[in-house]
Amino acid sequence: MKIKKYLFAIFILLVLSNSSPNAYNSQDFSELHQQLYYPLLNINKTYKVSSDTIFHHDFALIMGTGRIAFFDPIVINGDSVVYGGYFEGNGSLLFRPSVQMERDQLNRFYHKDSLDEEINSAIFFFAPSMYDSLLKMLQLSDLKFDNSNTKKMRKLHSEIKQESDFLFSFELMRNLTSPFGRPYFLTCLEPKNDYKIMYQFNPYLREEIRFWKKYWEPGNSFSELVNSYSQYNIDESYTNINGRKKAQLDILHYDISTRINYKGVIVSEAKVKAKVLSGPLQLVQFSILPSLVIDSIKNIQGKMIDYYRGKLDMTFKNWETRQIALFLNEEYLYGDTLNLIFYYHGKVAEYDFGELYLFAGSNWYPKYGWRDRATYDLKFKTDRRYTFTSCGSLQNESKIGDTLFTEWTVSQAAANISFNLGYMKKYKFEEDDIVPVEIFYSKELHADIANYLSQDLMIGIGKDMEKQVAEDIQNSLRVFKHYFGPYALPKLSVSEILASHGEAFPGFVHLGFNTWINTDAWGNDRLFRAHEVAHQWWGVGVGYETYHDQWLSEGFAEYSALLYFQVITDNKKFLKKLKESRNNIFSVRKYIFSSGGEAGPIAMGYRTSSTKTRGDYGLIVYEKSAFVLHMLRNLMIDLKTMNEDKFLAMMREFYGTYRGKDVSTQDFKRIAEKYVGIELDWFFDQWVYNNYLPEYNFTYDIIHNDSTKLLDVKCRITTKGVPDNFKMYLPLEIQFGKDSKAYIRILVDSKDYSFEIPGLSNRPRKIILNPFESVLAKVKQ
Ligand SMILES: [Zn+2]
Repeated sequence: MKIKKYLFAIFILLVLSNSSPNAYNSQDFSELHQQLYYPLLNINKTYKVSSDTIFHHDFALIMGTGRIAFFDPIVINGDSVVYGGYFEGNGSLLFRPSVQMERDQLNRFYHKDSLDEEINSAIFFFAPSMYDSLLKMLQLSDLKFDNSNTKKMRKLHSEIKQESDFLFSFELMRNLTSPFGRPYFLTCLEPKNDYKIMYQFNPYLREEIRFWKKYWEPGNSFSELVNSYSQYNIDESYTNINGRKKAQLDILHYDISTRINYKGVIVSEAKVKAKVLSGPLQLVQFSILPSLVIDSIKNIQGKMIDYYRGKLDMTFKNWETRQIALFLNEEYLYGDTLNLIFYYHGKVAEYDFGELYLFAGSNWYPKYGWRDRATYDLKFKTDRRYTFTSCGSLQNESKIGDTLFTEWTVSQAAANISFNLGYMKKYKFEEDDIVPVEIFYSKELHADIANYLSQDLMIGIGKDMEKQVAEDIQNSLRVFKHYFGPYALPKLSVSEILASHGEAFPGFVHLGFNTWINTDAWGNDRLFRAHEVAHQWWGVGVGYETYHDQWLSEGFAEYSALLYFQVITDNKKFLKKLKESRNNIFSVRKYIFSSGGEAGPIAMGYRTSSTKTRGDYGLIVYEKSAFVLHMLRNLMIDLKTMNEDKFLAMMREFYGTYRGKDVSTQDFKRIAEKYVGIELDWFFDQWVYNNYLPEYNFTYDIIHNDSTKLLDVKCRITTKGVPDNFKMYLPLEIQFGKDSKAYIRILVDSKDYSFEIPGLSNRPRKIILNPFESVLAKVKQ
């Protein structure tokens, strides 16, 4: 019935061109949203249940005995629609993710790979079709619910709202008003002997299925996202791990005018031009920094657009950005252009120590979706006492009174852009073989910080830090140009920020304050600077499709920094860094084994970190990912000549093919296979989609062969910590004398593997398994 209506709507559209009878005005949406945000339970009408089940993909809610009441209906498109209800009685929930990686993840939280839990109550929201099928199973009951039942229902509802306030009701509205009759489902229920859980199926999300566990600690309750995956990710080959792209908008261009005062408060106007990718579209979400207040949103005709922004609660884990739900005045269809103007103001920087600390990163303007690339025209009015710099190329600069006017354009589409301002001085470094490097930093400020820190830590300020930082920036640019191909923009600007992290934008890098005080003797400053430069290739240059692929940015930047380190120091120091990293990965795993939460695989992305496995994001997505690239490099190296042409060619082709695009792990795998020369399913399964860490025990005997008069070496490798079908190519270094070494590569594909190196004329002094940290493994020999 819904579909018929929609076809009719299209027909009318063809005739009347510009208006649709189904389009809501924003007042309608506001009312509707209010009703959905605060559902009223019809306690006077309850239904008896007897073993009635709601099946939903991998989830089932079995209502054994008890009663259901439904919410008061709302009116959508002239139809009265029931969109959810409440169950109380004896029931159970079953949940078993159809994806192995997600079952492993469930195991990290529940120590089992499926759930079968008794429950006593459940609140649920659904598409109208589910109401129709439920009604067929139910019988009216003589008993009514009373206020105590409503109270219990509200408690479960508040758990939903706590997760992200209005977003669930907004998403419900988006699904209910869709002419396609989307099969939305959301439930919150309380297992008898465990914390409450939530299950959601939202067809608008790339990962439609999400499962949360709610925790409670004294003074703090929070929810942990346990599972999140796409309904299309049903095979075990990981090819559909990213699900399907669901963006309804493609942001094309921003035109932003911003005034920033000396205390870091902005007043801003952002014009956004977008193309509609799927319609009809009237409800759409943007996000922005929580500290920024939206004053109004208008369309291009100057008409006000209604929007909704939930309560601000900084304890929410997604506080870095805040959602804004827009109720557009008209319906947009595929191919339409949407023009919006956001007027907003608020803090983007903190004024402290007599300096500005920019905390906005790239969330100082309204964003849509996930890493959407756009071009930008930027106009800034800033206090002329401050030095100002931004992403993009400077088009105009003038000073009038106390104000500095600058205009910038970013003409290569970029996902994230930022700027910086403060009492910084600009230093320019130019050399023939690389692009100019601009350094923005304040010598005095860092001398003050160093002075302050030296009271406890005996830290002295380094000499000419702008030169020390520039040296790493310039040299890493050189190394990366050699390994990955030319840098893509006309210059690279680097600015201090008063934070401890770094962040990379197109042609622009934020470096935290620590690295401007000194250059540490262990190389960590050099690695940090090079990591951020490497993002110009990985992350900024070649983007990533979803969080499952983020290791292609962070792990690659991490390994690029190590490549740089290898060039500026030596192999010994490079291998020492890898060894440290290997020890970190192995030792933390041991620790988390004992506390019950085992680290997740690289492909789990940010989700590998949880309250049970804190710090695992850095360990897995940065450090272990860097090892994956190192292992591939070792697989490709010619062990006779130590020639690395294949590795270089792979990296250059990957960069050349995907610069300006977003890649998946599968895209990278295809290019890796081309240069390794074999299919690599096994490699990615073991190292990226699973978290196996092998431990090898290596023994050998050198035996004199009486018939050949030569020496045979009988070798044995036993493997622990991995499944039976685990395999890996391992190099062996056979040392004959100080400068006489030979290398061979062996495929170890069973847990007890014996092989022979026959016919040696000289007696080896030593044979080493896994030189160069070639494989992320522990080796005993
Ligand atoms: Zn990074």
